[in-house]
Amino acid sequence: MASQRPDPDEMVEPCANCERETPHAVTVELRTESADGANASFSREPYRVAECRTCGEAFAQRMSDA
Ligand SMILES: [Zn+2]
Repeated sequence: MASQRPDPDEMVEPCANCERETPHAVTVELRTESADGANASFSREPYRVAECRTCGEAFAQRMSDA
């Protein structure tokens, strides 16, 4: 276990649900979202999704906000 190499797609990050740092599976997905206004135009924004390996909670953050 201790000699296990870290998965390149796995990041240790604080999890609000676990209230501690846990390994997260990090993926990027494109999500379609509508802009504000009546004539909604749709754009596909890349989101960084980190899913806690411990509790399974997934948090998505829009990458353009980072
Ligand atoms: Zn967690």
